[in-house]
Amino acid sequence: MYNPKSLKAEEFIDNGEVLAALAYADANKNNLKLVDELLEKASLRKGLTHREASVLLACSDEERTQKMYDLAEQIKKDFYGNRIVMFAPLYLSNYCVNGCVYCPYHLKNKHIARKKLTQEEIIKEVTALQDMGHKRLAIEAGEDPVNNPIEYILDCINTIYSIKHKNGAIRRVNVNIAATTVENYRKLKEAGIGTYILFQETYHKESYENLHPTGPKHNYAYHTEAMDRAMEGGIDDVGLGVLFGLELYRYEFAALLMHAEHLEAVHGVGPHTISVPRIKHADDIDPNAFDNSISDDIFAKLCALIRICVPYTGMIISTRESQEVREKVIRLGVSQLSGASRTSVGGYNEPEPEDERTEQFDVSDRRTLDEVVKWLMDFGYIPLFVQPVTGKAEPATVLWHCVKAARFRTAAIPTHL
Ligand code: SF4
Repeated sequence: MYNPKSLKAEEFIDNGEVLAALAYADANKNNLKLVDELLEKASLRKGLTHREASVLLACSDEERTQKMYDLAEQIKKDFYGNRIVMFAPLYLSNYCVNGCVYCPYHLKNKHIARKKLTQEEIIKEVTALQDMGHKRLAIEAGEDPVNNPIEYILDCINTIYSIKHKNGAIRRVNVNIAATTVENYRKLKEAGIGTYILFQETYHKESYENLHPTGPKHNYAYHTEAMDRAMEGGIDDVGLGVLFGLELYRYEFAALLMHAEHLEAVHGVGPHTISVPRIKHADDIDPNAFDNSISDDIFAKLCALIRICVPYTGMIISTRESQEVREKVIRLGVSQLSGASRTSVGGYNEPEPEDERTEQFDVSDRRTLDEVVKWLMDFGYIPLFVQPVTGKAEPATVLWHCVKAARFRTAAIPTHL
């Protein structure tokens, strides 16, 4: 039985309710009067429910679809101005005991190199990232209680925050690690993390269990209820996301919004961010093996509708996507962007040797951070490396970028600032 206030995964992501939302959407996708009413409601910037949002996603009327894009663009401008928050992922370890069939770090992959950064290596990686200009990191690690226990993650966070380099420091460490206990979330909170990010991968329980055949991640309820435990542990910044391509995108979209509604109903605060990764090629992963992949047009519509339906939630896009796709969805609502990412364990300080490659997935946007910054500024965006606290850019950050902008306009792109 659907209950957004329940703490049980199968009640707040009730399969019957998702299917009912999709059936409602199918029944109303050509009901243009309703679609217009929903667009009118969305223009109030108070969001839409998962059922309402599903109708807009199902509607293929070109004029209305264009209105959805226009509204998303306007909401993006109103809420975020021309600011784009920049970050970089830092992979700490690719040891993992899980069997996720879409990820090359799965336990049975015996030919990928396994690596875990030491604290000395982290200092070198973070120094290299700071030299590039990064101030915000998203740390990533596989699930492995022996190789990557919570103590290791906490040590890494402490190391990162303690690095002072050229009068600067990393200002925010977001954490993307496996679902864990309330006690461990409390420790992460005490370590001063920014956002706790955990991708659901898919909300469809049966598919979830098939895609995660072995390891602790197989437990759908434990994974899906992780954000509630994180909030119980004091973390009120949580980041949701699904891996588009694993299941039907319409199902994932409705369920993702149901998850956001659940957090709001129980904790009084929705997700801080939503990530929109699509499955990509990697070491022993062929994306064509997953038959739910989505076109760039559907992807853009999903981004626009997320912006319309949860206007206050940040939206993150990674270098999985090409420059062309990123250009389109930034306009439609994406507020955070990674740049010059390495999806390997290490690799910022020194490129990985060919025979020891550890990438989690292939990167589509391979530009340097300076190239990404210049590209954003050419479109009139201000890339921010520090999140504004008050909704306005911090003066120092703006100044830094004015200096940078001037240099871009008058000289060759500098390698370092
Ligand atoms: S997705 Fe995460 S949990 Fe699954 S195999 Fe990869 S690193 Fe491990």
